[in-house]
Amino acid sequence: MTRLDTKDALASLYAEIEGRNPAQPEFHQAVHEVLETLAPVLEARPEYAEAGLIERLCEPERQIIFRVPWQDDRGRVHVNRGFRVEFNSALGPYKGGLRFHPSVNLGIVKFLGFEQVFKNALTGLGIGGGKGGSDFDPHGRSDAEIMRFCQSYMTELYRHIGEHTDVPAGDIGVGTREIGYLFGQYRRITNRWEAGVLTGKGQGWGGSLIRPEATGYGNVLFMAAMLRERGEDLEGQTAVVSGSGNVAIYTMEKLIALGANPVTCSDSGGYVVDDKGIDIELLKQIKEVERGRVSEYAERRGASARFVPNGRVWEVPADIALPSATQNELDEKDAETLIRNGVKAVSEGANMPTTPAAVQLFQKVGVAFGPGKAANAGGVAVSALEMTQNHSRTSWTAARVEEELDRIMRDIHTTCHETAERYGAPGDYVTGANIAGFERVADAMLAQGVI
Ligand code: NDP
Repeated sequence: MTRLDTKDALASLYAEIEGRNPAQPEFHQAVHEVLETLAPVLEARPEYAEAGLIERLCEPERQIIFRVPWQDDRGRVHVNRGFRVEFNSALGPYKGGLRFHPSVNLGIVKFLGFEQVFKNALTGLGIGGGKGGSDFDPHGRSDAEIMRFCQSYMTELYRHIGEHTDVPAGDIGVGTREIGYLFGQYRRITNRWEAGVLTGKGQGWGGSLIRPEATGYGNVLFMAAMLRERGEDLEGQTAVVSGSGNVAIYTMEKLIALGANPVTCSDSGGYVVDDKGIDIELLKQIKEVERGRVSEYAERRGASARFVPNGRVWEVPADIALPSATQNELDEKDAETLIRNGVKAVSEGANMPTTPAAVQLFQKVGVAFGPGKAANAGGVAVSALEMTQNHSRTSWTAARVEEELDRIMRDIHTTCHETAERYGAPGDYVTGANIAGFERVADAMLAQGVI
């Protein structure tokens, strides 16, 4: 087939997928972004199309939706919806986080699960892709309410997961506290100490050192690798970071450790800009210990920081940008602003935070762009290392895990870079990540027959 024929075939396949999965715009966006880049590999390897690989890859192996009833502290009953999408297990057990956020619906979980398949393949570790969550809103809920919700959620989920089957972890709204309650209920129902069934556990009961830090640290390592490719490093770079959760905090911590200066953070209420650079210990105290808001950071930090309610964090001038909150948080207008202010590299800590038009713009003007499925893969990579430690009942030192993380992020960067070059798109990390992830999963699927 010629390039045009392949593009036509992919376009009609995409139209079919869109029609078959109505009202799931985020899932459509994630699929479209991948299909758009696959033409060269489908031409080089016609056996993929013959085996119906794209059709199979875009259809989850299993989708589970369930009722999650729970009682608040006043005894009122609430009903939420729980999801687990087991997308692809060609490379290993399904692996991917749980998100608790009111916006969660099937389309969002499918977009995240689809991305996860490629991301996990890129790590080179034996993990398939899945994702889950609930439309439960943890904001303002007491510890006891969070516990009851997690217990109810696990009372259904437990029958679908297992260390060799499906291994969830955290995501937005799910951190070590929630993983603890989920793990406790799993253990109680099954009467098994099966540490490898969940990752992101606390240290002392099966968690890996550096897992909380891994996504943010990994993203900074990916950013550093992109800069190195251009003959630069992180030293002295001013960074704009969005979010103030797990990924954002450890992104800032690593930026500071490597000599860069993060000057912003945000949450759904607005953003903070701190002329002296973010005081990471103060931010951790407010967000991780007190579970407070970024506006409180500005109140306590003094004259160098101000809170901008409802503002766009991307209006703050910076050399590099690391979106670390949520999907589609950086649009074309934001990209124009960043470019006008001289940004030279963008690396995604969050999943799909940059809209397609913004990605195109960055690439058009030569801003280095690291897509989430490569740049934020450090989290799931260390989750897989946590599974390895659980399996062998050992616990690695922080230095050993960091060394592995560093190696994995360098490998991912090299793989994306070389794959993009091999397929005629030098410097295009989106194409490199999509094709490299696709090839790994597709080869395993080919070998395992039509299932
Ligand atoms: P957290 O729950 O720890 O933090 C999320 C942060 O993003 C909070 O500051 C939150 O603010 C903000 N946020 C969330 N939704 C919105 C929204 N709709 N509008 C504005 N701000 C929002 O989550 P994580 O840090 O774990 O996850 C952040 C991103 O990174 C997600 O895209 C996730 O999928 C991705 N990711 C996470 C990994 C991990 O290991 N945790 C691994 C790979 C990717 P507020 O409190 O006001 O809601």
